[in-house]
Amino acid sequence: MSDPLEEYRRKRDFRKTNEPRGDRSDDGRRWVIQKHAASSLHYDFRLEVKGVLKSWAVPKGPSTDPGERRLAQPTEDHPIEYGDFEGVIPAGEYGAGAVIVWDRGRYRNLTTDDDGEEIPIEAALEGGHASFWLEGEKISGGYALTRIGSGGDERWLLVKMDDEEADARRRPTSTQPESVKSGRTIEEVAEEE
Ligand code: MN
Repeated sequence: MSDPLEEYRRKRDFRKTNEPRGDRSDDGRRWVIQKHAASSLHYDFRLEVKGVLKSWAVPKGPSTDPGERRLAQPTEDHPIEYGDFEGVIPAGEYGAGAVIVWDRGRYRNLTTDDDGEEIPIEAALEGGHASFWLEGEKISGGYALTRIGSGGDERWLLVKMDDEEADARRRPTSTQPESVKSGRTIEEVAEEE
């Protein structure tokens, strides 16, 4: 498929200008994982889909081990700008506690039907199964989200796919706790703000 922004990008050197590259195409949408010290600590996994961030709360955060299945509770859609939010939600407010941008990047949809044709990510999520390739600083490679349960008991599982980025020994949530936005830990953000 041709890139409608090719001419726009060709005319500009994005190392020298601060104008946006316009990366928000189907193969370059954003994702973010925010570590959130609410009443219980969790990681909010968010995928840009049709102008919003589809969101799941993952109590244990993502694993790099394909043998680990991580529970992911769906939460309400968030605005795209929320992916940059880092700070403290005040006591008494919804989700009170510190938030850091734990990892973020771009993703590509990997979901296909039996004939190998791409299923658009929004249709894949509606159908209860989506797979995608994440490019982040800590997390990369293929991941799959699969819906289990339904109605008021809707839950999903987030699982690393078995590919060259899989690593059963890494524990990035433990060994790389700091924000990719500011370098701060969630404890530092809680104290500073
Ligand atoms: Mn949260």
